[in-house]
Amino acid sequence: MPPSRPRRRPLAPRVVLRSALVVPAALAVGTVLALGACGAGPSGGDPAHSPIVTSFYPIEFATEQIAGPGRDVTVLTKPGAEPHDLEIGAQDLARMTRAGLVVYANGFQPAVDEAIQQIDEARVLDISGPADLTLEPSEDGHDDESAADHADHGTADPHFWLDPVRYAAVAKAIGARLAADDPAHAAAYAANTDAFVARLTELDTEFRTGLQQCTDRQLVTSHAAFGYLAARYGLTQHSISGISPDAEPSAAALKQIGDLVRRDGVTTIYQETLVEPQFAETVARSTGATLATLDPIEGVTKSSAGSDYFEIMRSNLKALEKGQGCR
Ligand SMILES: [Zn+2]
Repeated sequence: MPPSRPRRRPLAPRVVLRSALVVPAALAVGTVLALGACGAGPSGGDPAHSPIVTSFYPIEFATEQIAGPGRDVTVLTKPGAEPHDLEIGAQDLARMTRAGLVVYANGFQPAVDEAIQQIDEARVLDISGPADLTLEPSEDGHDDESAADHADHGTADPHFWLDPVRYAAVAKAIGARLAADDPAHAAAYAANTDAFVARLTELDTEFRTGLQQCTDRQLVTSHAAFGYLAARYGLTQHSISGISPDAEPSAAALKQIGDLVRRDGVTTIYQETLVEPQFAETVARSTGATLATLDPIEGVTKSSAGSDYFEIMRSNLKALEKGQGCR
């Protein structure tokens, strides 16, 4: 073990307990060499074996893909839970405290931002920088009613993962961090990162091609999750409820959206998987537009239109091609 190895902590009883859980999984995927190389048994500070805690699905998914099956990657936001208003319990905080690395996006989940204050910053990766959060929530087309809500969620639109290009930049940052923390496996992390980024590049090409020629470039969504996607592929997002799905639109905001739908001949209003469709239904009913589903991929459940990010994004693309009159 090189003396420069970072963040090695003394063995404590809980570490021994955790290692007992980790070792069989590690053996199963053939990281026996790493165990041997680390000498006298795994320790809590060993980056090759320490658990990684992620804040919500897109970060969990990228981290899993890059870390590989030998690493223990968990997520704070349970599948099917709406991530914006996540609460952090004592057990979650304990998990974060024990983790070798916590990966999150500052400004998206206030409870995570707060809990992070209690974690050693040397064991934290904030991906909001590489995510390049250039959109203001107010650019997403909703009114000032939800301004207070924006203050809770930081000043920028956090939904970077719905733009494959931004998601790829985040994946690269995660890969670089895993390699830096665990140089013995740097080549594997780099290869996994390249493979993940290649899949995102392919997805980007499919979106570019699929949304190149559409009769309707106005995108009317439930909550303002699709701003980066819209900007990437030449659509303009108009959201009914703003950046946070819980924000109730005012009567004036609903009227404004309804007017836009009628004026521009928008044929499709998109509801979402984790959000009650009542307001999207209201707008659709009052304008004669059709309801379709777009998934913001903030969590994956049985009702998602696919089992992972890539499947759901391709389902989103299909819905957009139909709803926006493309090709
Ligand atoms: Zn959201």
